[in-house]
Amino acid sequence: MKVYADHAATTQLDIDAFEAMKPFLLNDFGNASQPYSFARTAKAALKSARATIASCINADPEEIYFTSGGTESDNWAIKSTALIYGDNRATITSQIEHHAVLHACHAVERMGFPVAYLPVDSQGVVQSDTLSEYLSDSTKLVSIMFANNEIGTIQPIKELCEMAHSKGALFHTDAVQAVGHIPIDVKELNVDMLSASAHKFNGPKGIGFLYIKKGTNMVSYADGGAQEFGMRAGTENVASIVAMAVALEKNCKRMDSVNTHLVKLEHRLIASLQDAGLDFIRNGSNNKIPGNISLSFRGSEGEMLLHRLDLMGISVSTGSACDSENTQLSHVPEEYAKGTIRISLGYENTEEEITHIAASLMKILKH
Ligand code: PLP
Repeated sequence: MKVYADHAATTQLDIDAFEAMKPFLLNDFGNASQPYSFARTAKAALKSARATIASCINADPEEIYFTSGGTESDNWAIKSTALIYGDNRATITSQIEHHAVLHACHAVERMGFPVAYLPVDSQGVVQSDTLSEYLSDSTKLVSIMFANNEIGTIQPIKELCEMAHSKGALFHTDAVQAVGHIPIDVKELNVDMLSASAHKFNGPKGIGFLYIKKGTNMVSYADGGAQEFGMRAGTENVASIVAMAVALEKNCKRMDSVNTHLVKLEHRLIASLQDAGLDFIRNGSNNKIPGNISLSFRGSEGEMLLHRLDLMGISVSTGSACDSENTQLSHVPEEYAKGTIRISLGYENTEEEITHIAASLMKILKH
């Protein structure tokens, strides 16, 4: 039996999203920027996709900027803010961000601008008290991920955003693990920028978007043509953009039923491992992305577990109870931390597959 349980890494392209791409690859391949009638279908599809995506996160269509994915969106948000306020004001982020944010912040430091990296609590949550210690009138940007890719923990974005605004700073969130999985309302959250990536919600790879709140001052990501309101030049990837909109809309519509299914599978897996008497810790807070299960097995090795599970037809990730810079989260005792794997489930996973994962782990760990 083959079991794919690494949905936080990427997801399967939705069949309707795939079908929606085809006409724009084969027949309606016109360049959406051209004025003649043959390009109108592509242009109209772009407009409609932008509106669909905007409605899924309660944004306005003109606030959605198509990018090549989460990495580009994160880099744009962070570097643009550093450059636009070309002063010595600081960027604040957390220690457990994805490399797309951390490495963009390192680049900002190399440009000569200061960056602070907030520690998180024992459950991987950025505490508002911690942010308030670091925040000052000279903060220009706070960038905190919506949900962590390794342990699934959801951050108190609204509260953190309010704090940043109270000091006059902008707020960006890397919502790559959250968009299409939990409800997101950018107006209610009041974030200034939000990054998303289609391949995490059953869309194609290499496409995503950056939400930029109306009125936010930005440096263009790429200069050239007038695409993306003159802020990100380059001929649009119409087929992928259309597919991203189909996938996001579909995921948002089925979110409640999918999440009920995922939580049920999670409980089943944890109960089976506990019943088998395996010695493990589940990482993260209770407020998590459904389906993201980070487990640390005592006295084991994550790499070994990944490869043994692979031999049994199961794809999972290591995801090391560590932050993205390989700094071990302080709460995970040494004897557990090395034996960490991330099992991330999707709507296609079945109870039978969970039984197979649990049985395989028992076989490996009891051996
Ligand atoms: N941010 C987070 C939290 C992610 O999980 C990922 C992908 O793993 C990215 C950013 C990068 O997204 P992309 O693969 O679209 O560049």
